[in-house]
Amino acid sequence: MSEHTQGTGNIDRRAFLGRAGAGAALIAGGLFAGDALAGGTTTARAMPVRAPSPADLDPLALLQKMLAFDTQNHGEGGVTRPHAQMLKTMWESAGVPAEIIPTPKADNVHLVARIRGTTSAAPLLLLGHSDVVPVERAKWSVDPFAGVVKDGQIWGRGALDMKGANAAFIAALLRHISEGGRFDRDVIVLTDCDEEAGSYGSRWLAENHWDKINAGMVLTEGGWFLAQRDRKTPMLITVTRQDKVYFNLDLVADGTATHSSKPNPDSAIVTLSRAVDRLGDWLAPVTLTPVTREYFGSLAKATDDRAFRRAIELLLSAKSQHARDRAAAVVVARSSYPWLHRALLRTTHAFVIEDAGYKENVIPSTATVRVNCRGVPGGQRPRDFLAQVRGRLAGRGVTVKLVGNPGESEEDALKRLDQTFAGAPSSIDSPLYAAIRDAARVTYPGAVFSPALFEAGTSLYPWTSRGVPGYGVYPYVLDNDQLVRMHGNDERIGVEALRTGTEFMYRLFDRFRTR
Ligand SMILES: [Zn+2]
Repeated sequence: MSEHTQGTGNIDRRAFLGRAGAGAALIAGGLFAGDALAGGTTTARAMPVRAPSPADLDPLALLQKMLAFDTQNHGEGGVTRPHAQMLKTMWESAGVPAEIIPTPKADNVHLVARIRGTTSAAPLLLLGHSDVVPVERAKWSVDPFAGVVKDGQIWGRGALDMKGANAAFIAALLRHISEGGRFDRDVIVLTDCDEEAGSYGSRWLAENHWDKINAGMVLTEGGWFLAQRDRKTPMLITVTRQDKVYFNLDLVADGTATHSSKPNPDSAIVTLSRAVDRLGDWLAPVTLTPVTREYFGSLAKATDDRAFRRAIELLLSAKSQHARDRAAAVVVARSSYPWLHRALLRTTHAFVIEDAGYKENVIPSTATVRVNCRGVPGGQRPRDFLAQVRGRLAGRGVTVKLVGNPGESEEDALKRLDQTFAGAPSSIDSPLYAAIRDAARVTYPGAVFSPALFEAGTSLYPWTSRGVPGYGVYPYVLDNDQLVRMHGNDERIGVEALRTGTEFMYRLFDRFRTR
């Protein structure tokens, strides 16, 4: 690369690496730790030779280790310290300095590892959360924290989201290190906490330790690697460059509180249930943006199902809202990933938490349901969606409230959402994007590669809000059955898919190796 700011220092290091040769047990990460950014130091310090453990080069073994740590986040963070300690030991044995960053909540920690590069070019940061959503243990067919391998798949909470991705990221980096590879910039691996919920996630980290995570480009979870209808052949490899806009509504019904021996006609629970029913089957109108148009255009090229391709073409060429909605229904019905594709086409609303009643002999005065919504940036504005929901429930005894931050008015919350809604997707003009694209073409030669919208959210905000490009991949091909188990029961990914995904990551990082 061109950013050789260290003068002769690089030549010395290259010559040194050249003599040692690939595969030698010299480890780049810690060898020059500190001097790449110090400026002017050209003499390598003698340090003990270290090598990653061969087991950690195997993404499956590494993922099994990660899954064994119970990092469930019930809403206010999880216990991530033992998991971070395991990774810290692993990094240090490979000669890579790593630091545990405590948060105000005990044992809820971040881990930052930094592989020193040969120049002071802005670092590449890998962002992978260690916390996982809770499990309903009774509904799992295996122990969710045992890393069970069964039927060619690895099962466990976080196997997909996102310890599997972390295992692929880290195993691929360790393989480069074991070969004596050096990168042309620092590579920071941030294993964060409080991604699924909690107050001390990446925003807190950015406010308190920006110097440790300041980077020029970031890769995290996001883009799906989709298969053809046979559920195996790679079809579409996507990298996400934008997340949907996250907001919540509360539907609140009021009634008369009274003795349950004499049921009243204005029961809050009955009124709320009717409102839920009215919204339950309803779908917000389809909106297409430049990002989602490109995605669906790529999907049309990628699929081997002609009827599906034709449906997508009709969707993309539809001239009216009515035609667009009708074509979208056909696309979703024909898709092998129907819930994903339904979500990418519109604002979604999901009923997530219901709250009513407290005692058997009391009919409650209030019933509430929280509705989690995800808007398409540049598509339908959250304020327009809210107005539509209110219109649909008008005269039905239910109040629709936008859930804002504490003390925030509805209009202020809407203005905040307007800003997120108007945010631009990450530019695809970056060395990281090019590396992802090139690695995809080599690893999945028969598949189409495409940028995409992420139907969910990530921790990328601290970087993207500072103008740093951020992207997402889950580097394993998966089928719809695996996809819908994300945040559900019996979460799992394919073992071969994980191995191939790790190869993909290895090739991606190879683009940053010095030659
Ligand atoms: Zn996740």
